[in-house]
Amino acid sequence: MAYQCPRCGQAVARGSSSTAGIAGGLVGALLYSAFGGFQCKKCGTIPKKEFPPEVQSKMMVGSLLMVGAAVLLLVGVIVLVAVLQH
Ligand SMILES: [Zn+2]
Repeated sequence: MAYQCPRCGQAVARGSSSTAGIAGGLVGALLYSAFGGFQCKKCGTIPKKEFPPEVQSKMMVGSLLMVGAAVLLLVGVIVLVAVLQH
């Protein structure tokens, strides 16, 4: 999924945080990138509210999918741990 920067029109990437990755593992990093802002190479961090409404709703769907993936991952890890303990 690629979005355009509302300021300069270049492609932006979902922001990521290595701190969130260390604190919460893969799930934390996923949640952070689902709800964090976007990064433009030229303008830096762009808050979601600067994007047009239709883009924001697309981002919402993308974020929900990412959260869904994070929850599935978490459940998968719990099941794996439970299975390994038997
Ligand atoms: Zn920009």
